[in-house]
Amino acid sequence: MNLKTIATLILTTQLLGTLSAAQEESPITFNTNFEGASLGKIEKLDDRKFRCHVAGQYDERGRNRQATWYFFRMDAVKGREVTLTLADLVGEYNDKVGAAAMSSDIVPVFSYDSERWQHFAAMDWDDQKKEATLKFRPEHDMIWIAHIPPYTTSRLQRLLAEINRHPHVLVEVVGKTVQGRDLSLVKVTNPHVPDSQKKNVWLIARQHAWEAGTSFVMEGALRFVTSDDARAVELRDRVIFNFVPMMDPDGCVGGKVRFNANGYDVNRHWDEVDLRSKTLLERMPEIWCVKKAIFGWLNSGRGIDLMLNLHNTESSEYLQTLAEDESALKKMERLYERLAMETSFDPSRKFSVSSNPDSTTNSLWKERRIPVLLMEQRIGFSNKLGRRPTVEDRLAFGRKLIATMAEIVVEKPGGKP
Ligand SMILES: [Zn+2]
Repeated sequence: MNLKTIATLILTTQLLGTLSAAQEESPITFNTNFEGASLGKIEKLDDRKFRCHVAGQYDERGRNRQATWYFFRMDAVKGREVTLTLADLVGEYNDKVGAAAMSSDIVPVFSYDSERWQHFAAMDWDDQKKEATLKFRPEHDMIWIAHIPPYTTSRLQRLLAEINRHPHVLVEVVGKTVQGRDLSLVKVTNPHVPDSQKKNVWLIARQHAWEAGTSFVMEGALRFVTSDDARAVELRDRVIFNFVPMMDPDGCVGGKVRFNANGYDVNRHWDEVDLRSKTLLERMPEIWCVKKAIFGWLNSGRGIDLMLNLHNTESSEYLQTLAEDESALKKMERLYERLAMETSFDPSRKFSVSSNPDSTTNSLWKERRIPVLLMEQRIGFSNKLGRRPTVEDRLAFGRKLIATMAEIVVEKPGGKP
């Protein structure tokens, strides 16, 4: 090593020292200036220790605070040992005080690019205070943290623009939200086969903004039915698929939890929304317009053979209906059995006819005899998967779900297609 090399080495070391000192000095900051972001008050305990309150959302009566969504970015974190406590997670559910949005089973996800997400490897859960503490040392300067992998309205818009180029796809706008966003209805079928020979399947997602898992299931379903897969091509000849991919785009953009911009729960009030009422159209246009599209479909003489409304919960997973008719129940039981047998669907309870609560989309059975099911899927650990569900698990489930729904409605009695 000559003198020049040694001098260069010393200079380099000094430079690196200066750089790392500069980085040490730049404070860790939080950012929520992007689509779907949400975070409440931030308490700085020291340079690397923060207590973050989850913002939460109240309903139109100032009740039922839900704290099931947070999505934010931290900057200048590379290589630093960060301690982050998530607080203010307690609220109400169905007017019962005390519901907590997290538990030891509900572990947040992180990403270095806001595209690829993984669960934190460890989390401390304080069951007394109902607070979650994460300790981590990020590999990059920016880290995004969320309750579950986010699915934005922009991602859906890109997907709809992409599939709308397919000759078997029709994307319609059936109404506007409180804040004026489009409510999309996607119809997929082969237009060269008469509709009168086809069965009809409906799939609804994202009535609740935080339940982003349902959007990935929806994307899996949409990608499958619009694909060149031989089974999908065949099913498009025999089935008309109707998708309502995102019922609360306002909430999804604004990082809300489960109420529309006027505070109304999008999976309640279905029984009270009267299409003759302008007041209800103004209060909850999301329900009003989708209900109008569904009833318009029936009023034009077409049927609905099976409808499914997708949701996420913390730890339970199930299918529930209000339909008590024998032929509707047969299809639903068959769906339950096939999903439990052939997919990642990991039911925590048996298929049930239940009216609790009966103001959900399931009430369409009472109003118009539509065989509609509520599907809840957990975000916590699945014994069947051996992990908490990932984005890939949701996409894969969506493909199987829509194929199975379609196969069941085209089956002849006895279970053969
Ligand atoms: Zn829900």
